[in-house]
Amino acid sequence: MHDETIAIHAGYQADGTRAVAVPIYMSVANDFIDAEHANSVMDLSTPGFHYNRINNPTNDVLEKRIAALEDGKAALVVASGMAAVSYAILTVATAGTNFVAAPQLYGATYTYFAHVLSTLGIEARFAADDQAESIGTLIDDNTRCVFVESIGNPAGNVVDLEAVAEVAHRAGVPLIVDNTVATPLMLKPLHHGADVVVHSLTKFIGGHGTTLGGAIIDGGTFPWSEHASRFPTFNEPEVAFHNVVFARDFPERPFVVRARSIQLRNTGATLSPFNSFQLLQGLETLALRLERHESNARAVAEYLRGDPRVEWVSFAGFPDNPYHHLVEKYLKGRVPSIITFGVTGGYDTGLAFFDSVQLFKRVLNLGDAKSLVIHPASTTHRQLSEGELIAAGIRPETIRLSVGLEHIDDLIDDIDQALSEATS
Ligand SMILES: *Cc1c(COP(=O)(O)O)cnc(C)c1O
Repeated sequence: MHDETIAIHAGYQADGTRAVAVPIYMSVANDFIDAEHANSVMDLSTPGFHYNRINNPTNDVLEKRIAALEDGKAALVVASGMAAVSYAILTVATAGTNFVAAPQLYGATYTYFAHVLSTLGIEARFAADDQAESIGTLIDDNTRCVFVESIGNPAGNVVDLEAVAEVAHRAGVPLIVDNTVATPLMLKPLHHGADVVVHSLTKFIGGHGTTLGGAIIDGGTFPWSEHASRFPTFNEPEVAFHNVVFARDFPERPFVVRARSIQLRNTGATLSPFNSFQLLQGLETLALRLERHESNARAVAEYLRGDPRVEWVSFAGFPDNPYHHLVEKYLKGRVPSIITFGVTGGYDTGLAFFDSVQLFKRVLNLGDAKSLVIHPASTTHRQLSEGELIAAGIRPETIRLSVGLEHIDDLIDDIDQALSEATS
């Protein structure tokens, strides 16, 4: 089946019914048939629902749909993209271990890795850049995974996933990919060597700036039992969950079962079923929205490139973009509607542009139906030092646009008047 159809239909039969719209199951707990049923659901030998911190029929539909779109074995949805990132790392890494990440990361992901996980004894090693060799040299016996964003937010770099996967797998560690900016309609990391995918569903998938959510998708591909000494938490009985041995007992989807039963069950960043319902509605129009996002973004990028008030424009759709060959290979020539640029005059004129827009919203988000603008150095990434900013692909003057679905003429008019204001 094609992605456009999967995005609308997958998972409807999750509970055996064929409702036309997904019902919102707003109850905290589910009624067991009898004691035997209760036991078998709770130790996962029978599929079912017991307590909504752990799973829920509405969330189950969203999980099935996201897993189908990413071509994974199973998915877990959680309260936000950051919960997904956090649970993914904590599912493989424990105190005294490390993991390796490309430096071009979402701001909160960078802060969490550098300054929060370190307090738990988990060391994030940031590679010098997103190249496979730079990542490979940091992997050692204590490394538990490699983490990259398929398209960095806001840097816009496109990672050579096959090369990075090869380096990770040669060393015996899984590759975890944040696929938020690309969406599974443009890129399926599991087809290119990733073992686990994470998403902020808050962005293009929800698509309307109303609802937070996150997801973890298990490719079911990583051979955990071949690396038993590196991954004891997948290969030894888990005292926190019925002495299950995840790699042995759930060989199809051990990562997601462990994330659900250890992280979600005990720390509870549960997605509300009401949010699931809204995210499912967003997903139904994702394919259509992406087409309009892209055509508007191409027109805005062309306009900026031709304007002398703009010093530089970075857009994945330009043939002279340094990542163009990877755009061709991984995104099949499609591009996300994210543009970064510098207004002539540097930091102060950049800020003046930011202050002068009237239609674009000054919002810390992307992938919304509305067009959004942000100045990362003073907002999303303001906790980073100048050196960290450069490594993250952000200049002091960088303005990031997330181009929405409005009429293109209105977007260009707004940019034109804001550029005039800023440079006058
Ligand atoms: C927004 C974002 C996140 C965090 O998602 P939330 O839903 O805001 O918690 C993580 N990674 C990337 C690439 C993002 O853009």
